[in-house]
Amino acid sequence: MQLEPLIGLEIHIQLKTKSKMFCACNNAGENLPPNTTICPVCTGQPGTLPVPNDEAILAAVKTARLLNGRINPTTKFDRKHYFYPDLPKGYQISQYDLPIAEGGFLEIETLDENHQAILKKIQLIRLHLEEDAAKNIHGQDGSTYVDFNRAGTPLIEIVTEPSIATPAEAKNFLQELQVLARYLDISHAEMEKGHLRCDVNISLRPVGDKKLYSKTEIKNLNSFKAVERALEYEIKRQTKLWEEGNPPKILATRGWDDTKQITEEQRVKEEAQDYRYFPEPDIPSFALTKIVEKIKNLLPELPITRRYRFVNEFGLSLADAKILTVDPRWAQFTEEAFSECWEWLVSMPELAGEGTEDEIIKKNAAKVGRLVGGWLTSKLTGLMAENKIDIRILKITPENFAEFISLIYTNKINSANALLLLREMMQAGEDPSQIMEEKKLGQVDDPDMINRAAEEVIRMNPDQVAQYKSGKIPILQFLIGKMMKETEGKIDPQVAKKILEKKLT
Ligand code: ZN
Ligand code: MN
Repeated sequence: MQLEPLIGLEIHIQLKTKSKMFCACNNAGENLPPNTTICPVCTGQPGTLPVPNDEAILAAVKTARLLNGRINPTTKFDRKHYFYPDLPKGYQISQYDLPIAEGGFLEIETLDENHQAILKKIQLIRLHLEEDAAKNIHGQDGSTYVDFNRAGTPLIEIVTEPSIATPAEAKNFLQELQVLARYLDISHAEMEKGHLRCDVNISLRPVGDKKLYSKTEIKNLNSFKAVERALEYEIKRQTKLWEEGNPPKILATRGWDDTKQITEEQRVKEEAQDYRYFPEPDIPSFALTKIVEKIKNLLPELPITRRYRFVNEFGLSLADAKILTVDPRWAQFTEEAFSECWEWLVSMPELAGEGTEDEIIKKNAAKVGRLVGGWLTSKLTGLMAENKIDIRILKITPENFAEFISLIYTNKINSANALLLLREMMQAGEDPSQIMEEKKLGQVDDPDMINRAAEEVIRMNPDQVAQYKSGKIPILQFLIGKMMKETEGKIDPQVAKKILEKKLT
């Protein structure tokens, strides 16, 4: 029997708003001593009144728009009841039947049956706002303590349709959502720190069957890898149950044990009505139409759209474009560096060819794209990692980087020395031509000097010269190498090749 997995995700994104969801408390309590960013509202004291946070509502509407959701003209909050020590009110303020948005989708990359990269729309059910619970801390003395700093932190909850087909797609979806949250600057979105939390649900069914079977939820997934591994484990476990003629018949909750790399049965899940949802009487329903109007022209380009634009416009490889669009600051740097490169190329018709600006760019895109992509994603990021430099404190401006690329493009410097130059630029933050001059890293084009070097190499290597003259052409590479060494790498290998060929015929 051929089985197919149906995977759905339920994601909580912790917002980095200034204050909490329903009170004025500082929302940065995760870095502060326990129970120092609390007040009567977020500790659930009787008689207090919650006031919704406009910044959080704006963040939710923006996210919903980018995810193509249908935003409800009017929305409201509801109480969701359950008992737990980290929930002092005995209910969580969430949203039930009128969430911020319904429907929508997020596009992700996946592979088709021929292993070709394609885009797939993952459908969403809803997006709503709610408050976070406090945090239980299990002390070494065996007691459990409660830190209320987290209580009342704004959360966006996103629920997908079970339209995810593989563990890899689930991971891609989460990564895409993480990048989106960072583009919108609404969350730090670090999974390991709990800013991005994910529960998954999964069921299997025979291919061709249209019925939905009882699903299993998996909790406690703290990393992208855990999501992928837990799903892989669950697919194997449930496949076995199906093969034994005993597929899951009830909604179950399992926890992921990261050390043992297995899921374990936790409890039979409450159905929705167990929460006894009812409208939050202290917060009147409110309209979202004005906010929708206000943000209309303020939304950033979707990360995935930007990635493909980088490929088409800049001639970057998809792999490089992916690296460069994950962080919006890097994406901005890339945009600016390319626009400087184009400006420079267009001003150099003898190099870039004649034509309109668009034609010149089109003609040179592949070469410039490869050059910029390579120097940004492997060399520069490598040097930065080595020196523990973050893009926020990088001294190299996009303008200087573009100039650096132009030096390589015009063979004013070879790649070995270019790496030294980049290192210097990172330390000094000055313009590359100046550093190249000062440190004597540029290529020499003094014909006398090149001539002398060629003659010296020919004199010192009579055997190889004889071999070349007798027809062993590849030996020329050896002589070029000698010439580079003779000139300390300061000449263009192409120039060395030409002069040697000329002298040896
Ligand atoms: Zn508070
Ligand atoms: Mn929730």
